[in-house]
Amino acid sequence: QVSQALKSIARNEHIKSYIQKSNELYPLLLQAAQRFVTGEHKKDGIVTAKELISRGYFISLEYIGENTTDLEECRKAKNEFLNLIEEMGSLSMKQTISLDLSHIGLAVNSETAYIQLLEMAKKANLYGITLMISMEESSKTSDILDIYKKTTEQYPNVGVTIQAHLYRSYNDIQELIHYPGKIRVVKGAYQEPVDIAMSRSKELNNRYLKLVQQLIEADHSVSIATHDEMLIQEMEHRQYLNQPHVEMEMLYGVRPDLLRNLKRKEYNCKVYLTYGKEWYLYLCHRIAEYPENLYSVVTDIINP
Ligand code: FAD
Repeated sequence: QVSQALKSIARNEHIKSYIQKSNELYPLLLQAAQRFVTGEHKKDGIVTAKELISRGYFISLEYIGENTTDLEECRKAKNEFLNLIEEMGSLSMKQTISLDLSHIGLAVNSETAYIQLLEMAKKANLYGITLMISMEESSKTSDILDIYKKTTEQYPNVGVTIQAHLYRSYNDIQELIHYPGKIRVVKGAYQEPVDIAMSRSKELNNRYLKLVQQLIEADHSVSIATHDEMLIQEMEHRQYLNQPHVEMEMLYGVRPDLLRNLKRKEYNCKVYLTYGKEWYLYLCHRIAEYPENLYSVVTDIINP
């Protein structure tokens, strides 16, 4: 319930506009958000990316946004991504860009998202950049996978995220291993009906392991995206992490100590970075996912 409430707050246009207009609250919240978000502008993401790359990490950079229903705004978002691709390309950053398809057109219709993604994939391919599609609410899963499949057949530099908490994911992976793109496995951030998804539990961790095993046995490129220490230990024990087509990926600001330790062991380690004016939405997601973060945000606001 807390998680749903926070997501509703994040999407509430009145609250958003109040915060944006508040000269007191806006900078304080932005400062608190910077624990998880690099900043509001592309250059903020690039600066942090460069720094992490120089320390031996891979990076995945997202321009934050989702559920854009206005076609013109979808085009603007796509253009921002195209500029990001060009800038990373000009810096020879052969890294990853993450995106929500609902940011570039899926909330309008599937065809729009597909056409815009194709344009991005073509440009990214020229520069050796990977595009990683995030997974959204279960009502969008089939559309996202359809768009992914059509795109990765033409541009194998496009990958997709799969949520372990959805019961359908095992079958989805059975099919996806026949496509070239990288698969990122996450537990799943959205509240879903109990008949289609499981909640955080030992059962979910077992399911997560099973999906990763499925990909490793198929010799498929995989990004293991979790901060769950027990889960990571088990995968290390099973020798999953030292394979060349496997990487560990964590969110910027969440368990950097854990990722650092894994990098010391010479595993492929990637940091998921974000930037953009919609940082407020992203901050609410991180608090919803782990309500203890609310405490650190409040502390940051009280002691800026
Ligand atoms: P959990 O069991 O939730 O957490 C394990 C431990 O990690 C916690 O005890 C805590 O110590 C730490 N932790 C976890 N989250 C936080 C946090 N926010 N702040 C501080 N500590 C935390 N979800 C989607 O639905 N679609 C996506 O496309 C998607 N992409 C992602 C990409 C990456 C690279 C990552 C890392 C996650 C992504 N997620 C996505 C979110 C994911 O589904 C989970 O909600 C999130 O990773 C938390 O789950 P966990 O695996 O870390 O395990």
